[in-house]
Amino acid sequence: MTKYVYSFNEGNKDMRNLLGGKGANLAEMTSIGLPVPRGFIVTTEACNKYYEDNKQINPDVESQIFEKLVELEAITGKKMGDINNPLLVSVRSGSRASMPGMMDTVLNLGLTDEVAKGFAEASSNPRFIYDSYRRFIQMFADVVKGYPKASFERLIDQFKEEKGVELDIELTAEDMYQITMKFKNLYLEIAGEPFPQDPKVQLIEAVTAVFGSWNNDRAIFYRRMNDIPSSWGTAVNIQEMVYGNLGNTSGTGVAFTRNPATGENKLYGEYLINAQGEDVVAGIRTPQPISTLADVMPDVYNQFADIAKKLENHYKDMQDMEFTIENGKLFMLQTRNGKRTAQAALKIAVDLVNEGMISKEEALLKVEAKQLDQLLHPAFDGESLRNAKIITKGLAASPGAGTGKIYFTAEEATAAKKRGEQCLLVRLETSPEDIEGMNAANGILTLRGGMTSHAAVVARGMGRCCVSGCSDLIIDEEAKTLSTKDGLVFNEGDYMSLDGTTGNVYGEQIKTVEPEISGEFGTFMSWADEVRTLRVRTNADTPRDAIQARKFGAEGIGLCRTEHMFFEESRIFNFRKMIVADSVEAREKALADILPSQRDDFEKLFTAMEGDPVVIRYLDPPLHEFLPHTDDEIKTLANDLGLSFEALKTRVDSLKEFNPMMGHRGCRLAVTYPEIAKMQTRAVIEAAINVNKQGMKIEPEIMIPLVGELKELQFVKNVVVETADAVIKENGVNLKYHVGTMIEIPRAALLADKIALEAEFFSFGTNDLTQMTFGFSRDDAGKFLEHYYDKNIFEFDPFAKIDQNGVGQLIQMAAEKGRQARPDIHLGICGEHGGEASSVEFCHKIGLDYVSCSPFRVPLARLAAAQAKVKENLK
Ligand code: ADP
Ligand code: MG
Ligand code: MG
Repeated sequence: MTKYVYSFNEGNKDMRNLLGGKGANLAEMTSIGLPVPRGFIVTTEACNKYYEDNKQINPDVESQIFEKLVELEAITGKKMGDINNPLLVSVRSGSRASMPGMMDTVLNLGLTDEVAKGFAEASSNPRFIYDSYRRFIQMFADVVKGYPKASFERLIDQFKEEKGVELDIELTAEDMYQITMKFKNLYLEIAGEPFPQDPKVQLIEAVTAVFGSWNNDRAIFYRRMNDIPSSWGTAVNIQEMVYGNLGNTSGTGVAFTRNPATGENKLYGEYLINAQGEDVVAGIRTPQPISTLADVMPDVYNQFADIAKKLENHYKDMQDMEFTIENGKLFMLQTRNGKRTAQAALKIAVDLVNEGMISKEEALLKVEAKQLDQLLHPAFDGESLRNAKIITKGLAASPGAGTGKIYFTAEEATAAKKRGEQCLLVRLETSPEDIEGMNAANGILTLRGGMTSHAAVVARGMGRCCVSGCSDLIIDEEAKTLSTKDGLVFNEGDYMSLDGTTGNVYGEQIKTVEPEISGEFGTFMSWADEVRTLRVRTNADTPRDAIQARKFGAEGIGLCRTEHMFFEESRIFNFRKMIVADSVEAREKALADILPSQRDDFEKLFTAMEGDPVVIRYLDPPLHEFLPHTDDEIKTLANDLGLSFEALKTRVDSLKEFNPMMGHRGCRLAVTYPEIAKMQTRAVIEAAINVNKQGMKIEPEIMIPLVGELKELQFVKNVVVETADAVIKENGVNLKYHVGTMIEIPRAALLADKIALEAEFFSFGTNDLTQMTFGFSRDDAGKFLEHYYDKNIFEFDPFAKIDQNGVGQLIQMAAEKGRQARPDIHLGICGEHGGEASSVEFCHKIGLDYVSCSPFRVPLARLAAAQAKVKENLK
């Protein structure tokens, strides 16, 4: 029989696939002798079985749970349902990867009317009992049954208002009893049946609910954002309760072994006296900084600080811990590798190496490649910041600067982003339902909650700036206004700005600027560069982008899209003239006018790259993209060109295509109009000759796009070579240049061995290759792919991350065929995927020479390439 349930002392930290992260670490902490309330874990396999069996708990699973429950009763000396000494448990989810706030926890399970009554007498602390019971009813209703949490909260708020008290801790035992009764009635009203009075029924229902929550919308969205497969499932932890709400010598808190925002090596966290569970994170009361615990309960503080060090040494990483103090006794409830900002991640990784705790290679795995993005994000422009007025200050919860129009719900922020607006999300406090809106916003502002609040934790993970706990502001959700104490009022859609590094809030739009990188970043990236074998180039069309990318460590240009050079106001005229030309002579004349600026662009680009390789892709998009569309625009252009409106309109219409992305574009343009390729070749070669005269050593790499057939490539290549050789001869110099192609049409991948006969290099254009392999348009797919994610058909966007099974197979095959035909063929990719970590790892694995990505993703690609190599070395 499969073992579905493990006691904490039967597991360890390496069993996270089976026991989930939380369970594996609870087991590990138990085994290294830390004070952990005892319990057991229902495995992720049991969860998967639940889904296989059409959402039924397997009888084996159920009986194994009850066996372990008997063991737990024996160990604790308590009994479920016993009225004098009842065993109460928490039911906690825990998947392999930590999914903060995505799965819900039920506390104080096992309380019933009878148990509460007896226990209240036996413990002579009725306030605590009914505080626990009302919490349990609310959590059970919310998490297990999915009833609206707000209706329970409203009851408490009403009650407090009637009593004239502000805080939960001001409520008496009798108050708690009354609230419990009100909750029970409300439960009965909503459920149509009384609150369950059999602890075992409560337990199985709770376990089932945790399994169920694996597939709630929030969980699915979070998994998609973080590349977590739905097949992993969640484990369920069932653990003896310890009570932080017993009175003033009890409490609960969360802490990090190092500062998760800056990386500073100092215990960092918050706690609340006489509180339970999520109180700290939910921002119900404002928690105390952990350092003050040293005064309040010095022994507990010292013990906790020791445990923190021990855990950090044990896991060799910064830990995020949850603890509870019951009557002056410390219990550890969770530990995990802490989420951190990119800044903190770098500092911690470098510090841990310097402290001798880990190797450089291990350090490289401690920073998530995609997190580096955060370091490269905008900060406020100093000048416009100087004139800006701070209207209030909150906690600096997640660094960076954000500016935009304010919205008060996640939906509105998401909609604003879709309209193309820059927006900020303003909430009393955020909850997991807000995650999509948080992602859409440039920054998040909350009125309640500390540094470990949901908003703070999630924002840091996303790299969004966040200011939390801005308690001086007043929000009116009905009227959609935000006001300050001095009477400033901001309406939905008004501009504000947030500084997540200082906590400052501004009531206006402030210009943002790109950041400078230095310090630990340089050290860390140099370690990455020492290790990696995959080169990193950039996609850049302008000297400005090229210079930016070189600062970020790009080792060449993998893709210069020449068409982008023509969009400028001053140039588009000649370009349009070329497009609408109706004879070779007219086109050649227009091209001759374009040549000087194109040559000049290449000279500047070569100069900016200081001799590093540059791949120039010839004209690619359908021509009509450059043409005017409305009659007014056509009239103006006709006028400028000295053509009649009708003549131009006919020409524009003749260029229209039903399916332009599969139309007259790429090398097909050069087949029909070889003179375009001639002009581009002349520009490239003359530019190279000119800069080489200044002492540079450029060997331009000319790339023919959208090839699907050897003869097609041969034709265009002949044009290139004839022109290039003629230009070189004219100038009486020596110049090496290379001609290669993009592999972006599946047919080219299939015939790669043929194509390699003419191509000195391949660059996989994974955007088009993905589009053509799947057969869906990259411009439209977003609309229906949403349904594919919702229905679990796709788990990720194949335009963001290489589809290794399908598209990846084509790439790998083409790479192999290419190398067979031409052993020294140079291979790279230049799609968006070149800047996505798992795709970079894939490119490393199949032995490509380089990836090329947009400038801001170059550091990410460098790190991802290094991580791929480290992982390979570990095997
Ligand atoms: P999350 O994954 O959302 O952090 P947890 O399962 O860690 O949820 O539970 C949330 C909080 O509930 C914990 O931080 C802890 O304060 C409290 N809690 C969970 N289990 C127990 C327990 N056995 N005794 C006391 N408090 C508990
Ligand atoms: Mg937790
Ligand atoms: Mg393409």
